[in-house]
Amino acid sequence: MITHLTADDRGIILPCPACGTANRIIYSKAALQGRCGTCKAELPHVAAPVEIASASDFAALMAQSKLPVLVDFWAPWCGPCQMMAPEFAKAAAKAAGAAILVKVNTDERQDIASQFRVQGIPAFALLKDGRLVAQTSGFQPADRLLAWMHSY
Ligand SMILES: [Zn+2]
Repeated sequence: MITHLTADDRGIILPCPACGTANRIIYSKAALQGRCGTCKAELPHVAAPVEIASASDFAALMAQSKLPVLVDFWAPWCGPCQMMAPEFAKAAAKAAGAAILVKVNTDERQDIASQFRVQGIPAFALLKDGRLVAQTSGFQPADRLLAWMHSY
């Protein structure tokens, strides 16, 4: 099982389950299921948290995604964040095709964390159509996090 995915300024990098080729799912089309560029197998929905590596990648995702984006702000030294990680992965699997769940390491990406005025972690931000819709914080089981997301 894939524990997390990576992304760049154009899309999410998704390995093909059939042949292993890295396919780029462009942000504006993440709601659709494409086919592998190499073997033409149907690609699964993005079903794992996506690690955000830069502020420009994040800005592109936020501007272009047609799906809601749920951000998990975390850091390696944060105990509750470690507890949250498997729950967030579960939530990503359950929300496959309906939302994109991404992880932002606040130690490495202070630029993004300060944009959202993140203080205590784990913290969560829900984005729709390029706008911040809601924020919450603290450990929560996957189902509670998804219920919170769906209430908006
Ligand atoms: Zn393939």
